[in-house]
Amino acid sequence: MLGGMQDWPLRVMRLLDHAEREHGSREIVSFYAGGEKVRSDWRGVARDSRRLARALVRMGLKRGDRVGTLAMNHGRHLLAWYGAIGAGGVLHTINTRLFDEQLVYIVNHAEDRVLFYDKSFAPLVERLKPRWTSVEHYICFDDGEFDALLAGESDDFAWVEGDEREPMMLCYTSGTTGNPKGVLYEHRSTVIHAMMQISPDIFDLSARSVVLPIVPMFHAAGWALPFSTAMVGGKLVYSTDYTPAVMCELMRDEGVTHTAGVPTVWLALMQHVEATGAGLGKLSSMHIGGSAAPRAMIRYFTERGIRVGHAWGMTEMSPLGTVGAATGDWDELSFDQQLDYMCKQGRVPFGVELRTVDGEGRVLPRDGQSSGRLQTRGPWIIRQYFQDSNGPIIDAEGWFDTGDIAALHPNGVLQITDRSKDVIKSGGEWISSIDLENAAVGCPGVAEAAAVGVYHPKWDERPILLVVKREGGDVTPQAILDHLSGHVAKWWLPDEIVFVESLPHTATGKLLKTALREQYRDYKLASAA
Ligand code: AMP
Repeated sequence: MLGGMQDWPLRVMRLLDHAEREHGSREIVSFYAGGEKVRSDWRGVARDSRRLARALVRMGLKRGDRVGTLAMNHGRHLLAWYGAIGAGGVLHTINTRLFDEQLVYIVNHAEDRVLFYDKSFAPLVERLKPRWTSVEHYICFDDGEFDALLAGESDDFAWVEGDEREPMMLCYTSGTTGNPKGVLYEHRSTVIHAMMQISPDIFDLSARSVVLPIVPMFHAAGWALPFSTAMVGGKLVYSTDYTPAVMCELMRDEGVTHTAGVPTVWLALMQHVEATGAGLGKLSSMHIGGSAAPRAMIRYFTERGIRVGHAWGMTEMSPLGTVGAATGDWDELSFDQQLDYMCKQGRVPFGVELRTVDGEGRVLPRDGQSSGRLQTRGPWIIRQYFQDSNGPIIDAEGWFDTGDIAALHPNGVLQITDRSKDVIKSGGEWISSIDLENAAVGCPGVAEAAAVGVYHPKWDERPILLVVKREGGDVTPQAILDHLSGHVAKWWLPDEIVFVESLPHTATGKLLKTALREQYRDYKLASAA
């Protein structure tokens, strides 16, 4: 028996319809490196997205076809988001920091038919064009090309409608080894994630919010801010330039209240504020995630009256899993106790469930002591990767293994303690330890190699490479670096190469990475001095 309520499919374009109708004059500001500032509003975004959707359909885009973007944060990129989705397509935001082989793989795997790109990536596009097999239309956001496309279209267009479970966005994430994997978001998962995200304990967004997302739009749906800000009719401020001076200027001039990004950018901002005495304007809320937020950073911004929301999530989780927000007994806690709490990864909103399990899959108690594999389930959490022959990656009860190791506290607080996935996260971007190791053992004179992430104050983690020399070999660190340069991106190169006599192994002969990570946990990098 059905109840007595109406229904409409939870489709993403309804967010934009709502923003246009109820908050049409609320501004969208884009600052382009070089100094140009462009102003639009939700009404303009809706109108131009209709134009773009029309153009895409005219180009032959069919429901479910992928539309790639290779771009930084700006208003034209936002139009490509809503235009592609409104045309019934699946928006594929491409991580501009991946290296050529990965970029070739993901565009071909996604079968992108249209690719929008910033002029700054034109050399990359020219280089890879011959290897991208599915792209039929390349459209540059700059030099008037994108604007001319819009100018030639009428805005008489009705969004392509369909089921709320249809896909609308695709983001690839780097796995432990091999090729990146695609996470396919749905209309419904995105809309309910946005409803959760605006709530007070999570991002606390409202019509008064002025949001400056520092997180790139190509990272995990730009942390979903283009959707949740439309839902409340907030003002969006985008910048292609993240230098701290520009961020401070935008915060002051545009009245920014909310911002979000990885720890590395906040460190730069802290140093800038310290060095110049620059103000942060009306900033009242800052979300830090993607890597653990350091205590000193949380303290620094909290002492300046800013609410710091330490967030944990994953591309596979749309991306939000937990956020630190004040507890019922907050006022009874000392500042140090509050900081202790905020250094952990926070609590779940309704819609996310967490549990930790031991090596045998037994559920661990929420005692704040027992660390185990962190698993999660909920309606905006992945079931299976895009076009992946492995099929569903959740267990029989729907749990997805995050690859993080964590302890859950009695009050529901999550504390990430380690990682079971063999990856290194540097400045918010993944480095595959296994790919580094495989590349290193191809170097003459190297018998075995292990890549381990060690703490770095700016990048959070940087790789070091532990190398066992081949008997009688006389390989040098420089020779290994030269060899690696031919195989991996420059920013993947280990900060240090340490020669060791031997490396520990498991019974089956694999490298015992947990022991190595433990052993090198406090390793002091010369580059961090
Ligand atoms: P991504 O899919 O690139 O967003 O990366 C998700 C992973 O980043 C998680 O599984 C964690 O390993 C890590 N991560 C994200 N946020 C945090 C955090 N606040 N503290 C510690 N690790 C984090």
